[in-house]
Amino acid sequence: MIIHLKENIDEIEAVKLAEQSRSAYYKKHGQYVLITSSSDKELPAALESVADEYFVMSSDIQLASRQYRAQVREVQVGKNVQLGGAHDNTLLITGPCSIESKEQITQSANLLKELNITTLRAGCFKPRTSPYSFQGLGMEGLRMLAEVREEYGLNIITEVRDATHVDAVIEYADIVQVGSKAMYDQGILRTCGKANKPVLLKRHFGATLQEFVQAAEFILSGGNEQVMLCERGIRTFETKTRFSLDLCGVAYLKEHTNLPVVLDPSHAMGIAYGIPDLTRACVAMGVDGLLIETHPTPKTAKSDAAQQLNHDEFRALYRTLEPIAGAIGRRII
Ligand code: PEP
Ligand code: MN
Repeated sequence: MIIHLKENIDEIEAVKLAEQSRSAYYKKHGQYVLITSSSDKELPAALESVADEYFVMSSDIQLASRQYRAQVREVQVGKNVQLGGAHDNTLLITGPCSIESKEQITQSANLLKELNITTLRAGCFKPRTSPYSFQGLGMEGLRMLAEVREEYGLNIITEVRDATHVDAVIEYADIVQVGSKAMYDQGILRTCGKANKPVLLKRHFGATLQEFVQAAEFILSGGNEQVMLCERGIRTFETKTRFSLDLCGVAYLKEHTNLPVVLDPSHAMGIAYGIPDLTRACVAMGVDGLLIETHPTPKTAKSDAAQQLNHDEFRALYRTLEPIAGAIGRRII
């Protein structure tokens, strides 16, 4: 149950009420919001005199539910990019899997500038499957990304791998990416809940849709309203592709949640030849964002080499997207 407290309830009282009712709580536009388990169907007696309004929810998909908010939440990226809300924007995010050098990321930034794309991705802290693979440039990479942001006026998205650098990523990034493997890390989720930056939460490859959206609830219930859900493929019995892109799941998320949805065909397919067709299918799904990995020289990439498009392949793909977006009343930004 979600309970909006009356505006005259101050922090001391709100905290006391939250403890008494074992609720999560946060403050929104001067008003405290308490969230109890969805098994609560009656307003607790102690809250009757202090509740402004309340919402009985059918599952623990609560703050993220369309039942609570009919419209998709608006997300503000940097100073001048919006998605969700009343915007029919599909935000195209591109860049390498990992930042590898200033030269490499400058080439990526030039590609974005040429195509008027606003949001550059690149991982600094890489959640690799092997401890012996390239682990990312870490803080050095974050600082390079910050330089590129200043030089080119781009927004930056980069990922959190673990608790050791979550604050630094929140400070430097315009969008904080919580990687697939970090989706279950409640320390990261709770820290992101207190951040004032949008968060792109990637679905763990073994997570059900319910678990995925409940992970988003950890961020939302901390008071951060800017959460995007990213489908990036789940593990199935199939081995010819890296993962299976769950477009049925995307249809579910669009129907039942109020969070913007971003599709990442790169990690799902895992092989470059499939990415252009899949990206076009993703645009046709009417999603709020796309995440496509590109690299100036994919063969030399230090992570995810097989799936990254080279810049000419990306240019050719890019030209085909706008008509598809236009056909369903959307705009690629
Ligand atoms: C990535 O975006 O480079 C990445 C590691 O993605 P995922 O967390 O989905 O594997
Ligand atoms: Mn990658």
